[in-house]
Amino acid sequence: MTQITLPDNLYLLLTPGPLSTTATVKAAMLRDWCTWDRDYNDIVQKIRSSLVRLASPLPGYTAVLMQGSGTFCVEACIGTAVPGNGKLLVLANGAYGRRIATIAGRMGLAFGMIDTKDLVPPGPGQVDQALKNDPAITHVAMVHCETTTGMLNPVEKIGPVVHSHGKCFIVDAMSSFGGVPIDMAAIKADFLVSSANKCIQGVPGFGYVIAKTSEIEKTKGRSLSLSLDLFDQWETMEKGQGKWRFTSPTHVVRAFKTALDELEAEGGVTARWQRYKENQKILAEGMTGLGFKPLLPEAFQSPVITAFHSPQARGYDFKGFYERLKSQGFVIYPGKVTEIDTFRIGNIGHVFAGDMQRLVKAVKNAMTW
Ligand SMILES: *Cc1c(COP(=O)(O)O)cnc(C)c1O
Repeated sequence: MTQITLPDNLYLLLTPGPLSTTATVKAAMLRDWCTWDRDYNDIVQKIRSSLVRLASPLPGYTAVLMQGSGTFCVEACIGTAVPGNGKLLVLANGAYGRRIATIAGRMGLAFGMIDTKDLVPPGPGQVDQALKNDPAITHVAMVHCETTTGMLNPVEKIGPVVHSHGKCFIVDAMSSFGGVPIDMAAIKADFLVSSANKCIQGVPGFGYVIAKTSEIEKTKGRSLSLSLDLFDQWETMEKGQGKWRFTSPTHVVRAFKTALDELEAEGGVTARWQRYKENQKILAEGMTGLGFKPLLPEAFQSPVITAFHSPQARGYDFKGFYERLKSQGFVIYPGKVTEIDTFRIGNIGHVFAGDMQRLVKAVKNAMTW
């Protein structure tokens, strides 16, 4: 093999995907693969079974991979799971929840939305009432970690309510799956959506849906989109044992396999969750020590991304702050909350306690106001 040297990263990504990946994940992309060759399809099958294992210890689940970013997968999942004569209830408390409603609207699906606003999680009582009031609802969708604020939503309380009404429960666990323990059977999720470039720590290019097999089996012919038909994609992967319908992101898929192996080597989701929690704690304590105020109370805060109130100081502007951090090797995220001025710092990816400590020092240097 020709020796090539990976270039150094320009900065550490403290954004919730794409995020900083290991050199070995990047190096896994240096080989070309044939999209329908057996060796490659075997890798796809291994990935699918690893994802199912991560999602629940109980049998009865299956995984399907889909080209595109996370939103493509959410759209594929909504468009395939909800039939034309169904109705979707969206529980939203941030931009990603509202995006699910936008997707349903574009597709012309009947839908309703409970929007509790950015600082309040949806509650099981509200959902119970909504399902009692409107028997036409067939599906309920919500976001697990609402990346807008960093809030970890109580899917474990909502799922059983949805289930008790006999409805289908769809969870966008994009920014939490692989980094926060989730058991689909325990939270009564029928569909769970995530993507390659979040807590599994792969590179961007595809997403995946883990589904209760008995639920995805019901969805044949529901999708009005060809390329985003999750059932067709799943059926092809099942019958062709790892075959994709159209060109697959082969390099990205191969890198994702390495990322899954590295997750296991780290000690699985529990160990990764501990690392992320430690990262978040150092971040929150360090920033609080510098006078910043986290947006959320600790009880709602995920170990994934933290939103901070923007400083009120006259000399503060996000762009300048961002550039001063970037020049020290850290890239952070602008705010996304509608009513409050915030900025966000992610702590997922190949980042560790020492990186968060260095970041806090860099923030101190960047406080020129
Ligand atoms: C990242 C993310 C998505 C998908 O975003 P893409 O930019 O399409 O990858 C969806 N939902 C949540 C909660 C996310 O964090």
